[in-house]
Amino acid sequence: MERISQSVEALVRKYETNDPWDLCEKLGIIVIITDLPDGVHGVYHRVGEQQIIFINKWVDTVQMKMICAHELGHAVLHENSNMCMRLDSAIELEQEAEAFKSQLFHVRMFNSELKVFGHDEIVEFANLAPNSFIMDF
Ligand SMILES: [Zn+2]
Repeated sequence: MERISQSVEALVRKYETNDPWDLCEKLGIIVIITDLPDGVHGVYHRVGEQQIIFINKWVDTVQMKMICAHELGHAVLHENSNMCMRLDSAIELEQEAEAFKSQLFHVRMFNSELKVFGHDEIVEFANLAPNSFIMDF
């Protein structure tokens, strides 16, 4: 899990944000909010060089942000895996994506310094709405 916190911290330092929507935009990852089957909150998919995250349009904006962070974890940690094609390692990959999500909401840049926060302090971060980069269809 050390590898995951290091990759989260490197990303947040480089782009000076821990916001998963902003990070997707900066990394050139397309985020598509769309109708997914019941029980599927998000999907990470790679087509050629293009990384795409699909998020279920029927969840609320706080959940969307959490799902985006989880799928961003797949995009960063498992960039070549289309998640649906890797059933054998799915559990380990899911745990890593969850760890990435959790780490992402615990670090933030302040005055060019990376700070790591506890649970109570991160609750407010989850209340931000996705920005206009997100498509809805
Ligand atoms: Zn996943």
